[in-house]
Amino acid sequence: MTTRAASSETSRLHFDQGYARLGAEFVEERTPTPLPAPYLVAFNPDVAALLDLPPGIERETAFVELAAGNAVPPGTKSTAAVYAGHQFGSYVPQLGDGRAISLGEIASARGERFEWQLKGSGTTAFSRFGDGRAVLRSTIREYLCSEAMHHLGIPTTRALAIAGSREPVQRETVESAAVLSRIAPSHLRFGTFEYFHYAGNAEAVKTLVDYAIDGFFPELKGSSQPGRYAAFLRAIVLRTADLVARWQTAGFAHGVMNTDNMSILGLTLDYGPFGFMEAYEPGFVCNHSDYGGRYAFDRQPGVALWNCRALAAALGSLVTKADAETALGAFEPAFRDAFLSGMRAKLGLSNAQPEDPRLIVDLLDALAAARADYPTFFAAVAELGPEPSPLDQRLAAMFGEPQTLRAWLARYRIRAARQGDEPRRAATASAANPRYVLRNHLAQTAIEAAEAGDFGEVERLWKLLRDPYREHPGAAAYARPAPAGAVPVCVSCSS
Ligand code: AMP
Ligand code: MG
Repeated sequence: MTTRAASSETSRLHFDQGYARLGAEFVEERTPTPLPAPYLVAFNPDVAALLDLPPGIERETAFVELAAGNAVPPGTKSTAAVYAGHQFGSYVPQLGDGRAISLGEIASARGERFEWQLKGSGTTAFSRFGDGRAVLRSTIREYLCSEAMHHLGIPTTRALAIAGSREPVQRETVESAAVLSRIAPSHLRFGTFEYFHYAGNAEAVKTLVDYAIDGFFPELKGSSQPGRYAAFLRAIVLRTADLVARWQTAGFAHGVMNTDNMSILGLTLDYGPFGFMEAYEPGFVCNHSDYGGRYAFDRQPGVALWNCRALAAALGSLVTKADAETALGAFEPAFRDAFLSGMRAKLGLSNAQPEDPRLIVDLLDALAAARADYPTFFAAVAELGPEPSPLDQRLAAMFGEPQTLRAWLARYRIRAARQGDEPRRAATASAANPRYVLRNHLAQTAIEAAEAGDFGEVERLWKLLRDPYREHPGAAAYARPAPAGAVPVCVSCSS
């Protein structure tokens, strides 16, 4: 395949061989399946700038053809990667990129490298029974959510563009196919290591770890045994603990924390039936196929540690059991510190006090008992002055038992007064609590408009989510929960 316009900026893009250099054991060489008559649904100039793409490239036909997987620049060797994974606790010995194809890496002038994957670009050797496609609905959800996460300060893969098409795809109903361009320094998963370990290929595990250290763990570059591989495990444990602490403070439920969806870089990866907590409910299960609630919101930290344990097992040929235990022992304190500091920031507290854990837990208990709207409550914290005000009444009205909140607010004000510096409290809280969160009904409205051919709502929501802390004129409705009586959005894995 060749690009349409030889002189286009798109045809001049250069994809380096990244992960694929490791060889045929690790990837299958695979050309994307063309998407008929593609058009651009969304384009993200922020991510384009990260990649140093020339301004206006999205207006080139060749770019749309590239984003659809129809024509890649000359010399590009596109690949799908093999991996395995624990899915809902059971080991599946072979998964892999069943509907994602990597074009290779783009190196930016700042010395950063990004792998560009086309998600939904047709079958690969790892598609099993799948059609290799993604639907417009799921690409919009991933596009909006990954950008929202980034702007909430949560590590994530990024989204560059969506190419749409009228091509029908069968899910529970017939939907239309789309391809998401997603970007990350690496999409390596815990499951990649598991694949080679359980296939009895210790040499490949070592190749993989050395590749990962060399590319993505500069602090370990040049390290040697003993200690090199245990330090690698520990670094991933720490990144994972930090990631999940950020999910918990933001009220984000991933939905499918299988080990094949866990990034070794500590990025949020593979957006499927995710959900942001609205009415606060610790046992919230956003994935309607998760009957046992394995990936319930409040189980995420425990599952993350379980997944780190699975990774440690996959590194068993390189790291002793004792060293693995030490590395895994770093999870809980790291999670706790990151969670407490995230919650303190949400409360505008900039120093640590011994009573903080109790204060935070009591608030979360009260929110849970009232099933109060999590984003609405925290967005109001910045405006809580040192004295009770009409805002107290409005917040108390969110609680069936208003006295519980009043008592909590009194304790909170004493704590905040001890810290002093009210302007700083308010500024800290308003920088930590988004006004605009990707509520399911907002995503759904944008999806339905896009399915009808109007992409304006995707763009509007993207603009709010990339700048979620500031009030945007005319956007009050986007900060509110779904209207009472709205049909709840059912999110399944079929994406
Ligand atoms: P996920 O639940 O999206 O993380 O996917 C789990 C596994 O199923 C991965 O190996 C995916 O590549 C594969 N998969 C998911 N959807 C499809 C599809 N439509 N076609 C082919 N493979 C798929
Ligand atoms: Mg996945």
